[in-house]
Amino acid sequence: MSFSSQIQAVALCRTPYKQKFGIPRQPGLADARGYVELTPEFNHMDAVRGLTQYSHIWLLFCFHENLAQGWKTTVRPPRLGGNEKLGVFATRSTFRPNGIGQSVVRLHGIVKRKGKVCLEISGMDLLDGTPIIDIKPYIPFSDAIADAQGGMAHEAPELIDVQFSPQAVAQIAHFSAREQSPDLESLIRTVLAQDPRPAYKKAKQDPKLYQVALYDLDIFWRIDDGKAQVIELKKVN
Ligand code: SAM
Repeated sequence: MSFSSQIQAVALCRTPYKQKFGIPRQPGLADARGYVELTPEFNHMDAVRGLTQYSHIWLLFCFHENLAQGWKTTVRPPRLGGNEKLGVFATRSTFRPNGIGQSVVRLHGIVKRKGKVCLEISGMDLLDGTPIIDIKPYIPFSDAIADAQGGMAHEAPELIDVQFSPQAVAQIAHFSAREQSPDLESLIRTVLAQDPRPAYKKAKQDPKLYQVALYDLDIFWRIDDGKAQVIELKKVN
């Protein structure tokens, strides 16, 4: 069955995450700060009047980078090491009919910047530029369920230690002094603590040099003795 209602972006999400690799697999896992910018048709303070009473909001969004690849009935969740298949509706896979995702994020405030209504948020697991199709307040009495069972994802993922080379320490001090990335160290630390590598890489020696793109920086790191070692940062032109 299809319906005629036209879904459109009500906002765009602006985040430090410039590529999919490295983005946490759920919200609230890394200290990312960003904002949700209402699109012209919805760009009215009246549309968000009352929202600052809430500490958290739901973002419904489109996995726009994966839409072209369609969806499959079963998927292999990274949580299960990529070895086991589950039904798409039993997972948070990004390859799904209609390509819709949802995340709870912290709301810090609402400001008008250059004429645009911006919701200041943190903890999102969204790529920069992700189209937001709806925004709703998070309502604890109903949305938080104390005795809920979390299936294969009952516990938060295990974290690994993150260490920095002397060069990386100096570069982080330099780039953190900029207005655009004051939270750089905690962002790198919390992103890499998730160990974003594919599951099959984790079981054996892995000498590969990895890169994640945060803000306008490429962060180079590798795994050394089970810890993430940040080697250096490079500014993207
Ligand atoms: N919390 C949401 C949910 O459960 O619907 C998203 C979960 S999904 C597993 C999170 C992953 O989606 C991120 O790690 C990132 O790789 C991917 N992602 C984020 N924004 C995306 C976008 N706009 N298009 C495609 N993939 C995206």
